[in-house]
Amino acid sequence: MNLILMGPPGAGKGTQAQRLEKKFGIIQLSTGDMLRAAVASGSDLGKQAKEIMEAGGLVSDDLIIAMISSRIDEDDCKNGFILDGFPRTTPQAEALDVMLKDKGIQIDHVIEIEVDDDAMVARITGRYTCSGCGAGYHDEFQKPATEGVCDQCGGTEFTRRADDNAETVRSRLDAYHDQTAPILAYYKEKGNLKGVEGMAAIDDVTEQLNGIVG
Ligand code: AMP
Repeated sequence: MNLILMGPPGAGKGTQAQRLEKKFGIIQLSTGDMLRAAVASGSDLGKQAKEIMEAGGLVSDDLIIAMISSRIDEDDCKNGFILDGFPRTTPQAEALDVMLKDKGIQIDHVIEIEVDDDAMVARITGRYTCSGCGAGYHDEFQKPATEGVCDQCGGTEFTRRADDNAETVRSRLDAYHDQTAPILAYYKEKGNLKGVEGMAAIDDVTEQLNGIVG
């Protein structure tokens, strides 16, 4: 089972991908997470991506396509994967088609998490992640049961993304509407685009997704 999750920053792609990963045993491939790891490691890729990410722009298609192509070849993707944050431009979507054809792999569902843009700034600026296990939280909408302690691993260290500030979020939303939203028409034409109501509660969105995937 191979999926693409679409939706603007803050739609909940990462949260839902983590849940799908657990339930269906298919791996979450987040190009944003891969780039953040590259930035943290100080690799050449990280050096090239850092400023663009901080400004809320998009990293070059060539770099992203090469990165995801080699990642899909790894063993843990054999059972299936969830693309989260890729493709983000029409050239990426076209390159993905060619790449998957070469690898003999098919995408089963492209799912758009449909949300209101206006709500995304509040969602994004309040979010943070457990440094130990990567579980996602929010200052207002998704607090851990005990303040300061991760529900999943008991960790007490948390991080916030450098690009999760109000100014950068607006650039990221613009990039989504200018460069990513047009891909939805591309997948609609191909006939494998589905939508879920992303303004619903997190568990409701998960149920909608399980209904499509299961
Ligand atoms: P995300 O974690 O998906 O919100 O991505 C964070 C940032 O990484 C984006 O704002 C972009 O700068 C960069 N990025 C992630 N995925 C891609 C992609 N597929 N193409 C170009 N840039 C990307």
